[in-house]
Amino acid sequence: MSVAHASIGQLKDQISTRLDALRPELERIGRDIYANPEIAYEERQAVAWLTELLKKHGFEVEVGIANTPTAFTATRRNGNGPTIAFLAEYDALRGLGHGCGHNLIGTASTGAGIAVADLLERFPGRVLVVGTPAEEGGGGKIRLIRAGIFQEVDAAMMFHPDTRTQVLHWALAVTHMHFEFTGKAAHASGDPEKGINALDAFVLAYNGISMLRQHIKEGARLHGFLKEGGTAPNIVPERTSGEFLVRARDEAYMQELVQKVKNIFQAAALATGCSVKLSFDEAPYADLRNNGVLAKLFEENLRRLGVDPVEGIPWENAGSTDMGNVSHVVPALHPTIAIASAEVPGHSQAFLEASGAPRGYQAMIDAAKALAMTGADLLSDPELVEQARREFRRS
Ligand SMILES: [Zn+2]
Repeated sequence: MSVAHASIGQLKDQISTRLDALRPELERIGRDIYANPEIAYEERQAVAWLTELLKKHGFEVEVGIANTPTAFTATRRNGNGPTIAFLAEYDALRGLGHGCGHNLIGTASTGAGIAVADLLERFPGRVLVVGTPAEEGGGGKIRLIRAGIFQEVDAAMMFHPDTRTQVLHWALAVTHMHFEFTGKAAHASGDPEKGINALDAFVLAYNGISMLRQHIKEGARLHGFLKEGGTAPNIVPERTSGEFLVRARDEAYMQELVQKVKNIFQAAALATGCSVKLSFDEAPYADLRNNGVLAKLFEENLRRLGVDPVEGIPWENAGSTDMGNVSHVVPALHPTIAIASAEVPGHSQAFLEASGAPRGYQAMIDAAKALAMTGADLLSDPELVEQARREFRRS
């Protein structure tokens, strides 16, 4: 049966068949990305592999958009119609490889884009696969928003591997803060009165943040780590540095907390006589807004594949994502699919193993199919696109 005369149900069966055929290639790229983890803004190889496949399937590829060498767009279009974007993440965690499973995201979105582009001959519109680097710190999607990549996008969609299959997803606004205390080195036994202790400053700040935690709103999170704590036990630590994340359910409250955390660092500097330098990543991540129209379509398509999602509890186990920023600009979808059992923590060795295991690659292909089918729903029925837009404007 050709695309031209098939019903939507038949088109979805064709999408499924198409992705089963593509699976070996997608899985090979997923495994290559897994074996070669590249962190924020260094994802050159992942971009090369994904864009090579997209070119092979007729996409026009532009690498290095938004002044970012590892961001890309891949486009196929036919006439005028909705623009459906699938967002590909592919960055690894610092120190933990693909412990967040982004090797499965980039390939799922690429597969979905290729499968939906087949429908353009019948339903005019544009299919975009957007390569979005640096989700684990950096915020590649924020650069892409600023560069106007989402200006004409009607729906932005991706999936994320998780320990639960959940269509609606909640993510916190977050600010990424870097700190640096500078004191003065001295012999810790011979000349302690001549030293200014940068480790003491950190300890004071750390304790201040720990105390602040009792007095913050439900769902907010403050956490960080010390990168440099000194150089030797007999030298008063001259320099300490590290990073903190400040998270909350909305950006306004997050900014309020950022100010309190800044005050704590300044107070610790004053108390110890150190100087402190605070810097922030280029833009905070926004909370994630679920588009109910896209979510409902995706859920039906998941069920069609025999994958049953669970009802999510709002804000439970929430992290953050720069998809949040995208969801404030266009209607967005960011569901999760389980690749490991519920007791496995995210960003752990066990989650890393799950991201490279057969269940992970099954989730990748299920996600690609359900995303592509949702794209097919939208391309074939512009009224659904309009409904998603209306809901977006209301929120
Ligand atoms: Zn992630």
